[in-house]
Amino acid sequence: MEHANFRTEKVNTRCCVAGGGPAGMIAGLLLARAGVDVVVLEKHADFLRDFRGDTIHPSTLELMYELGILEEFLRRPHQELPQFGGQIEDVTVIVADFSHLPTHCKFIALMPQWEFLNFIAEKAKAYPQFHLRMESEVTELIEENGRVAGVRAKTSQGILEVRADLTLGTDGRHSIVRAKAGLEVIDLGAPIDVLWMRLTRDPSDPYQTLGRFRAGKILVMLNRADYWQCAYVIPKGDIEAIREKGLAAFREDIASVAPFLRGRTNELKDWNDIKLLTVAVDRLRQWWRSGLLCLGDSAHAMSPVGGVGINLAIQDAVAAANILVEPLLGGAVRDEQLREVQERREYPTRMTQRFQVFAHKHLLRPALSQKTQIRQLPLAFKLLRRFPVLRRIPARMLGLGFRPEHVRTPEARSGIATMHGVSSHKR
Ligand SMILES: Cc1cc2nc3c(=O)[nH]c(=O)nc-3n(C[C@H](O)[C@H](O)[C@H](O)COP(=O)(O)OP(=O)(O)OC[C@H]3O[C@@H](n4cnc5c(N)ncnc54)[C@H](O)[C@@H]3O)c2cc1C
Repeated sequence: MEHANFRTEKVNTRCCVAGGGPAGMIAGLLLARAGVDVVVLEKHADFLRDFRGDTIHPSTLELMYELGILEEFLRRPHQELPQFGGQIEDVTVIVADFSHLPTHCKFIALMPQWEFLNFIAEKAKAYPQFHLRMESEVTELIEENGRVAGVRAKTSQGILEVRADLTLGTDGRHSIVRAKAGLEVIDLGAPIDVLWMRLTRDPSDPYQTLGRFRAGKILVMLNRADYWQCAYVIPKGDIEAIREKGLAAFREDIASVAPFLRGRTNELKDWNDIKLLTVAVDRLRQWWRSGLLCLGDSAHAMSPVGGVGINLAIQDAVAAANILVEPLLGGAVRDEQLREVQERREYPTRMTQRFQVFAHKHLLRPALSQKTQIRQLPLAFKLLRRFPVLRRIPARMLGLGFRPEHVRTPEARSGIATMHGVSSHKR
């Protein structure tokens, strides 16, 4: 029988992290660094997926400074954005100016996310307590006596069973972990989706990554050196109508927002070159159950607005490590400690989502329904142009977030954690 070669591998660990995105990898790094045995399960074979977003904000760069890995990180290819803005018709508006932030890096670093995750994986692998299992797709939770005791995952060899004192659900906005745990989702709704595609970048093109708004169309372009990663924003559910109008009309839409791309839109040969990314904004009422805690998009799916989802997910991971390292090293995580993580991170989540929902309603939706050229800049943009000092406010919101976290976990030496004299042990 075909299943005869399949086997079940069983692993015990302190903490099982389901999903190797920004939240999962940073949690894995911090826990292993503090001497906690951790197994990270990632369903893909590599981090090389396109639709992940590229923005590493000053708050995340500051965490890297605290971990002593910032200089090395900045030696990797990236683009530095000291300001962040958009182009409305032909007017450029600087929305955020990071140059006054009280951080070591006063810019957003743009780096494809696979580069970032590979870097974090490399740093984490230096700790013997860190175990990354690629091609391991979590399919089920293991439950015992009403508590989550680990997960089952599908691998190319068969089934992997990971038993853990704590499972972290960091498997993103379509989280299987939160679904299997039966955690209640509050859907805040999102009126947009994104079409994601690449177009060649010419050296004579503008350098800067920008959001472009032009007569009912919005295109965000990320500079990835030799190509543009383009995100074309559409009203939710409009993909069929766009396909019906045909590829030629779609190419023309792109060229009308960024005319310098006109000669290159033929690179979009068929609809397979254009991926639909559905946008969701939601959050769990309760992020945890005994033995389980969701973080990042799994706890609160974020819209691409402001490019803050990655950084919020990372901040969750830092807060969770700060609160949970000690109980994990001691061997028992109590429900109160899981509740404490949610309480700490709920405020920044709510505030950020409020800002995103506001931007959907008052900026993106009106911009998408605009049929003609935008003649009047919205008042907020007029003020930002007139009074540059105001750009410091969005810079703080986007660059630092509403409750910036700091690394408070220790670095263990040779697997022995130095915090309060507790020593870790593998089981
Ligand atoms: C179109 C779009 C563009 C965006 N652009 C940006 C941006 O530029 N900047 C920004 O900050 N935010 C952006 N966001 C938001 C951002 O992508 C998320 O908020 C962020 O990625 C959340 O990180 P995470 O680690 O929680 O989850 P994810 O990044 O989704 O990572 C989850 C990981 O878990 C893995 N996984 C999933 N299921 C399983 C499973 N069953 N078993 C094992 N592994 C699993 C996935 O492969 C993935 O590696 C964007 C969102 C969208 C929709």
